[in-house]
Amino acid sequence: MDKNVKKIIDEAMNRRLLEAAEIKTLLALPANSEESFYARFAALQINQAVMDGKAEIHGQVGVNSGPCGRNCSFCSFAAANRLFKEQRVEATEEIIEKCVRLQAEGANAIYLMATATLNFPEFLDISSQVKKSLDPETVLVANIDDFGYPEAVALKEVGFSGVYHAVRLGEGHTTRIPLQKRLDTIAAAHKADLKVGTCLEPVGPEHSLDELVEKIIITREIHPAFSGAMRRTPISDTALSSWGKVSEARMAHIVAVVRLATGYEVAGNCTHEPNTLGVTASANLLWAEVGSNPRDTVIDTESGRGFDMARCRNILCEADIELLKGPSQMFAKP
Ligand code: SF4
Repeated sequence: MDKNVKKIIDEAMNRRLLEAAEIKTLLALPANSEESFYARFAALQINQAVMDGKAEIHGQVGVNSGPCGRNCSFCSFAAANRLFKEQRVEATEEIIEKCVRLQAEGANAIYLMATATLNFPEFLDISSQVKKSLDPETVLVANIDDFGYPEAVALKEVGFSGVYHAVRLGEGHTTRIPLQKRLDTIAAAHKADLKVGTCLEPVGPEHSLDELVEKIIITREIHPAFSGAMRRTPISDTALSSWGKVSEARMAHIVAVVRLATGYEVAGNCTHEPNTLGVTASANLLWAEVGSNPRDTVIDTESGRGFDMARCRNILCEADIELLKGPSQMFAKP
């Protein structure tokens, strides 16, 4: 094994925060190399220390669908992708039923996801009804458009424990949302005492190592409940689909590098869509999805790409990783 690479990995295991050049060195390694498998082993040791080696499954419920003017190129809801023609908000009773079902099936946290088109008061109204229908200790997380401090306070008051928000790869170019706006939203959430989950996403074959490093460091500096890595799911006949997708093996390597780069302060390390290789490389957070889904072209992803709780559990089982029982520890940690 390359001695310099082993030294970097060992030092990450020994709690030294890696520098950008070191993260880049690790990312440049071939996925199936001896060094990559050592990185995955080391990443699992960090999971053992921060989460007792256990994993979580979070259930996400998409509450609306339809063309979204933010036009993030990778998203099936982007108006420019012309996949969804009409705005549609699911009946609140159905959203509640899905959330209650995910809770009963053992999801460690429930996310409500909305496109940027859904107005904030309507999202709050749906959320407050969902919150009242769930067990008080169930962790609720919002995955919505950018917002300011007053909205962050309102989310906290309704009962959200946190938000999912990311500075995406290509932010400002493939998304047309200024990078600073994403950071401002994350700062507003923190100021309102909401925890933030984030991720290196959506990774495509064309992204340079330098951009991956830049965005990994941003996830670390957010001090999130979890970081991780998600590949881009190509949506047929859209601007980015000709790039294809990154292999699960390459993503597993990236997941391990993110774990090593984010270190012991970050409890969670997600991957999406769920897969066994990612879990064996230290992904300790998977998502079950119902309702709308920005990677899918059907209104309810349960009949499409979405993984249910049983499928996510099975992936953990195949990887010999135990599922945490009860509310998310990632969102509980100070
Ligand atoms: S990722 Fe979100 S903001 Fe961007 S187009 Fe899709 S729904 Fe809209």
